[in-house]
Amino acid sequence: MAQKKDGLFFKPWKELQELQNRQLHYFITRKLYPFSPYYRRLFDRNNIRPDEIRTVQDLRRIPFVSKADFQDVPGGPAGKSREFILQPSEELIRKYLPKTELVKFALTRLLKGKDFVKERLEREYRPIFLTGTAGTTGQSLASLYTNHDLDNLKIYGRRMIDIIGMKSEDLGVNVFPYAPHLAFWLAIFAGIEGGVFILSTGGGKTIGTEGNLKAIAKVKPQFLIGVPNYVYHLLKEAKKEGMDLGFLRNIILGASRVPEGFKRKLANLLAEMNAPEVKIFGTYGFTEARTAWPECPTAIGVSSGYHTYPDKEIFEVIDPDTGEVKGEGEDGELVYTNIDSRGSSVLRYRTGDIVKGGISYAPCPHCGRTVPRISSNLVRSSNIRTIALSKIKGTLVNFNSLEHILDDHKEIDEWQIEIVKKDNDPYEVDELTLYVSLFKETDREKFSRQLNSDLLSLTEISFNRIVFETHQEIQKRIEVESAVKAKKIADKRP
Ligand SMILES: [Zn+2]
Repeated sequence: MAQKKDGLFFKPWKELQELQNRQLHYFITRKLYPFSPYYRRLFDRNNIRPDEIRTVQDLRRIPFVSKADFQDVPGGPAGKSREFILQPSEELIRKYLPKTELVKFALTRLLKGKDFVKERLEREYRPIFLTGTAGTTGQSLASLYTNHDLDNLKIYGRRMIDIIGMKSEDLGVNVFPYAPHLAFWLAIFAGIEGGVFILSTGGGKTIGTEGNLKAIAKVKPQFLIGVPNYVYHLLKEAKKEGMDLGFLRNIILGASRVPEGFKRKLANLLAEMNAPEVKIFGTYGFTEARTAWPECPTAIGVSSGYHTYPDKEIFEVIDPDTGEVKGEGEDGELVYTNIDSRGSSVLRYRTGDIVKGGISYAPCPHCGRTVPRISSNLVRSSNIRTIALSKIKGTLVNFNSLEHILDDHKEIDEWQIEIVKKDNDPYEVDELTLYVSLFKETDREKFSRQLNSDLLSLTEISFNRIVFETHQEIQKRIEVESAVKAKKIADKRP
């Protein structure tokens, strides 16, 4: 079972699309509208009859939701996030499910007893698991899973193993930090369900970098899985200890963006440790989807895009200002819809993430899968910040392009950007400091001048200060050992 390719994803897109439409209609009429307090109200208020939602095009009638709609804000109204959880009751089942379904219920109850029916409903609907995001805004966001969702998590894990090309004889080490965080648990379920050995160390927080290196030396994995900055840190330490990583062939990076320059830095490091042929892939995922979507194996510098699961979800790309749905390959904001979820369930969720090159519906030129692929040229919403360059108004700055410039820079080893208010005065302008470690001694003055002029020509900003530190000092700053995501941008404004 583990190594059998998911044949579904090689069928013509038209067939998958029909399956997707059928699943959407089923999900809305039998699961979401009957049992989601939020969506039942939203549909009724907007005069949308659930039965009329039959295709992806029909989705356009349903208003978007965004993080703010289901976030329980401290001090705000309680239970907002609860409204998104599917909550069946005997009354709702009787009121909203079609007669055929009710007959089935009655028959099962007759044949197998009341407890059996109750147990089955509990398995499907009772939340028993949670993963969350330690949001960059400091507010945490959680998604609840029922047993049905955990079964899906297993399916997603198996699909990931399949897409990244992990075979049953391959070994993996997962260094995602131990936390109620999707990436860590998805890697665990992937190993179990994919039938492959994956040692989950819990990352630097649990057994330290020394412990992780020992685990890698012992297991000799072909696959190393983790957060980009921690993997980079680990490999640098491995090099310092003179380790031979000739067994390593793939690095799977999650929970963050992966610029090409960063992939090259990893590849260079690995080449120096007898591992010249390593493939490095990124994955895209978020809490609300309770899954992640991988790239398939390609050379560095080429991306297949993220392979999605059309039987479980629908992605749309919209104009972030007008909400208009864009066509294939067009830039815009990613919008996500569950079509096979229980527990926390969302329709048309605005991720805030901006994708350049949108979604492609052509078969993947690298693996042949026919699923929609999201361009990996993504800007996460958490990377767009308002910076007050003058006292008059804030400017929206895309820190993603800043990060790309820094990561693509050959002389730069590690870095952190710190944002503060000038003189600690909340009415003052913002100041940006770059803390940076370089690979070798360079004319610092010249380096700073050049970097700032590069930045100004490509973005609207430059650094007020550039401070040179050692690799260790920067590692400490970004909390590479303990944070779920390395703190590459430290926003210290009040
Ligand atoms: Zn592919």
